[in-house]
Amino acid sequence: MNPLQSSYNEHQLSGRYICNSHIEPLLSAYNTSIIGNSEAGLPIHRIRIGTGKTKVLMWSQMHGNESTTTKSVFDLLRYLQSDKSLRETLQLSIIPILNPDGAKAYTRFNANQVDLNRDAIDLCQAESRILRKEFDEFSPDYAFNLHDQRTIFGVEAKPATLSLLAPAFDKERSFNDCRTKAAQLAASVFQGLQSSSIASQIGRFDDQFNPNCVGDAFQSLGVPTLLIEAGHFQDDYHREQTRMFVFNAYILALQAIATSTFADVSIYHSIPENRKIFFDYLLRNVRYVDHGNEKTADIGLQYKEVLNRNLIEFYAVFAASGDLSDAHGHIEPNCENLEPFSFKIEESAQNLLKSLNL
Ligand SMILES: [Zn+2]
Repeated sequence: MNPLQSSYNEHQLSGRYICNSHIEPLLSAYNTSIIGNSEAGLPIHRIRIGTGKTKVLMWSQMHGNESTTTKSVFDLLRYLQSDKSLRETLQLSIIPILNPDGAKAYTRFNANQVDLNRDAIDLCQAESRILRKEFDEFSPDYAFNLHDQRTIFGVEAKPATLSLLAPAFDKERSFNDCRTKAAQLAASVFQGLQSSSIASQIGRFDDQFNPNCVGDAFQSLGVPTLLIEAGHFQDDYHREQTRMFVFNAYILALQAIATSTFADVSIYHSIPENRKIFFDYLLRNVRYVDHGNEKTADIGLQYKEVLNRNLIEFYAVFAASGDLSDAHGHIEPNCENLEPFSFKIEESAQNLLKSLNL
């Protein structure tokens, strides 16, 4: 695939903290409307681009702290300026930040602490109703549901940098024409990225049916819906590399739609399932003293993401200890030669890292 590179990067967006105040200065370059307000009164923006017959609805940051796919949306918008053929074949409606309150507070939830991805049936939140109205009025041929996933997900022994899913539309998780089309779309992305450095870092997300989830709901309504989850890439906690792979995933999916050239559904089923197998740190063979006895354990630490003055800071906290031989760490030092620790591991993740010079 060709447009792999960062030449389309929207440089005004970077890092993990992306909210309305970051994207609003960029909007005047595009055909933008405010399609409603969030529960706390912030505008929800929509961008339309393209004049083609085939319509694609995309929404990002329905979970406020999942900003990678939003950065990639703006990279895509820059790219589309140069791709007349895609613009003339497709018509895109993009909601870059569906949950501006959650984005501002850097939380998954909206201002009422509701998970919008569990509100597809009740539609009890303004943001959910706005998305549903856009879905009904725009009447898309395809829908892209865009998220970030945590660093805990892996594909075999590697981090899951991308996860894809054609959500189920029934409890039996069966495949009708609509879901098959979504699966073929995912397969096209997977196949297109086989020549990239994340060929073995793409997972298939769990397809348990939940009608309260928006992807499942839209799939049930007969619109092929693709879930894209941006995940961890080696040493890329700000997800600037991942952002590029997501951008490429968008292009691959849109090209497949525009040319009606889809990969075979069997490729979708061959995508390995992603699993919760990673810690941010997995400290192997840590010796520690417990009630006067020396013991050895593996210790898993997980980063907590904290918003501090417009920046996201990462604090390691204790997540698990014991025999973690089946798990992996994005950083995995062997601690067997260190003096035994005497402090309480559960309370001392930071001390532990300090003594390891990490
Ligand atoms: Zn999410």
